[in-house]
Order: sequence, then C-alpha cells, then structure tokens
Amino acid sequence: MRILLSNDDGVHSPGLQALYEGLEGLGELEVVAPDRDHSGASNALTLNRPLTVEQHPNGFRSVDGTPTDCVHLAVNGLFKEPFDRVVSGINTHANLGDDIIYSGTVAAATEGRNLGLPAIAVSLVNDGHFHYDTAARVVRLLLEGRKPLALGPRCILNVNVPDVPWEDIAGIRVTRLGHRDLAEGAVPMTCPRGKERYWIGAAGKGSDAGPGTDFHAVREGYVSITPVHVDMTRHEALSSLREWIDDMASGEGQ
Ligand code: MN
Repeated sequence: MRILLSNDDGVHSPGLQALYEGLEGLGELEVVAPDRDHSGASNALTLNRPLTVEQHPNGFRSVDGTPTDCVHLAVNGLFKEPFDRVVSGINTHANLGDDIIYSGTVAAATEGRNLGLPAIAVSLVNDGHFHYDTAARVVRLLLEGRKPLALGPRCILNVNVPDVPWEDIAGIRVTRLGHRDLAEGAVPMTCPRGKERYWIGAAGKGSDAGPGTDFHAVREGYVSITPVHVDMTRHEALSSLREWIDDMASGEGQ
C-alpha cells in the first residue's frame, strides 16, 4: 500500500511527524506538505505561478503552495508510482462541524478523493497535551481494517481524536457534522506604524452539538468519524425552486 501524507499546518508540523511515525511499516509512505502553515486555506489551488518542490533531509517534500496543491502535485505528476490512500493531518486543532468548510486538512483529503483515492482527514481536539500518538494510532487502526470500506463517490472520512492517552479513549462513534454559532468579531489592533490591522476572530462555539454530532462525541471522550462528501446542491430545494421559476415564467407569458 502506498500512502500519501499531507497536512495544512506545514511540513515541519509535529502532527505530520507523529502521523508518519504512527504509520511506519504499514506501507510505503510519501510526505508532501506545504512549506508553511496554511490552516484555513480550504480547497485553494495556486494557478497564478509555478510551484517549487523541495526535498528535506528526512525525505519529506514541501511545496510553496496550499494543501490542495500538495496533493494535486503528488498524485498528478510528482511520483511515477500511483498512491492507494491519502491521509491528511494530524491537524493541531479540531475540525468539527462547519470548520471543515475552511479546513486545509479536510481539503487535502478531499483533493485525494477528487483524484480517485480513498482519503482520511485527522485532527486532534487539542487540550494542550498534544497526544498526536493517539490520533496516529486511530488512523493506523482505520487503515488496517480487515474489510474494504465502500463509502461511495467523493466521500472522505473526517476524524477527530480527543487529546488523551490511547487508554483513555472511550471508543469510536460514527457521527454527523454539527454546526457552530456565528464567529466572534474581528479583533482590531494598531501596527507599529500606526495603521489599523485586524485578526480574524475565533470560530463560534458548537450550537448544533447534541447527541449524534461530532462535537458531542469528542466532548464525551470518543473518537468521532464522519463520512463527508462534497455535493453542494441543496437537493431538497430543487423542486420548490423549479416551481418558483416555472411560476415566474408562466406569469411572464400572460
Ligand atoms: Mn491546520
């Protein structure tokens, strides 16, 4: 099994190193990750300049681009041998609910899936203990699964792991994504040259976060696994929109 590892925290992230160490021996591992932190990059592709790939003494490769660039390049040209899996992470912080819209971690996995590969995004629900080893062990468990998992087209697994030692994990729960409240306001500050600057404010707290959601599972000490697919059509709205458009068109004819 050839496994491509990537992330959005950058090639020097301890989470990526822990993922590599946790999966060693499972197959052939290649690492292609951004040369710096690209958290919040979502599915951005760099289309306005060429990309530079550098190989580091530990064998990891970095790209001066986004997480999506990394997976795209790795699968589409950087290597002759094809990959069987993509794993993105271990992200330094949780990716719960609406986070995944912005997440570069989830985007790297999604790009793998878009290019035809089963993919996992894994994040640590960071409490300041940095138990990346626990999250790596969860990924290893998933990759070692005895039966192949059929998820359907364009589906990835979004995995969030509590920041505790392996023995303290309560179990694994299959969840749906919850939702967050509105984000907190932007934080203004003044730069040394007297100009106004802003930090993007913190994400909102979990609001739709009850039983069955990813928020709830990790709060209870469980690993949360959500099958996620990219299909942004609001299928339930198709017929009412059609009716509305038909009504408008027939009104015009009168
Ligand atoms: Mn990140």
